[in-house]
Amino acid sequence: MKKILTLLVLALVLFTACGKKETISKYDEIVNRGYLIVGVKTDSKPFGFIDDETNTNAGFDIDVAKYIAQDILGSERRIKFISVTPNTKIETLTSGEADLIIATMSITPQRALLIDFSTPYYVAGQSALVKEDSNIHTFSDLKDKRTIVVLGSTAEKNIRRIIPLAKIIGYKNYKEAFTAFSNGEADAISTDDTILSGFLTDHKGYRMLKNKITKEAYAVGIRKSDDESDDKLKRNVNIIITRMQKDGTLKNLKKKWNLK
Ligand code: GLU
Repeated sequence: MKKILTLLVLALVLFTACGKKETISKYDEIVNRGYLIVGVKTDSKPFGFIDDETNTNAGFDIDVAKYIAQDILGSERRIKFISVTPNTKIETLTSGEADLIIATMSITPQRALLIDFSTPYYVAGQSALVKEDSNIHTFSDLKDKRTIVVLGSTAEKNIRRIIPLAKIIGYKNYKEAFTAFSNGEADAISTDDTILSGFLTDHKGYRMLKNKITKEAYAVGIRKSDDESDDKLKRNVNIIITRMQKDGTLKNLKKKWNLK
């Protein structure tokens, strides 16, 4: 009887083992693939842009991505970059096209319903650019003024909420937005101080408003998953960012990219 019972238990164990789906965690999938796929900006100097001389991705966010690739895969070159805009960041991640999004992306409660965020690696703030001789000095001066924003950015939502009377002109990306602003299509352009300062270093005749109306905590976007084994990716990204904070990497990157 005991023998039969043992055999029965053994059969049950084998049956359950065979029936179990073979799953591989997102982290191990990346390691097996041999490279990371990261969604980055290509028009947001100094965080994510294309270096004209080398024709390669460059910027603070790109350096963060390289550090992560170095840690997970042993080489900072093991990355495939794909270009995202404020409106495509989330979808590029949820569709599975990218493993991570590192693209001046602020943590917001609405976004946190759709994707996971790492611990923050930088804190920016929303401001606005105007012409040097403009009579706009504060955000409330934007009332009745034409203000450019990029669709899907936190800046778009904030301006609509805080200055409902501003005349919003929306563009798909920062390249188009800055071109329109330089062509005099609006009185102001509003987004993070980081991206605005990138434009200011290359263009004369403009100034940034002194006040910042938000705190934008940038974090790495990671796909949500019901599978517990996928936590490994987020856990590791968090460990890596904490190390970047402790070993001075983030401080050095701020210096490298002329950020405060
Ligand atoms: N940090 C802001 C955001 O996540 C603005 C940057 C951007 O438009 O990419 O929406």
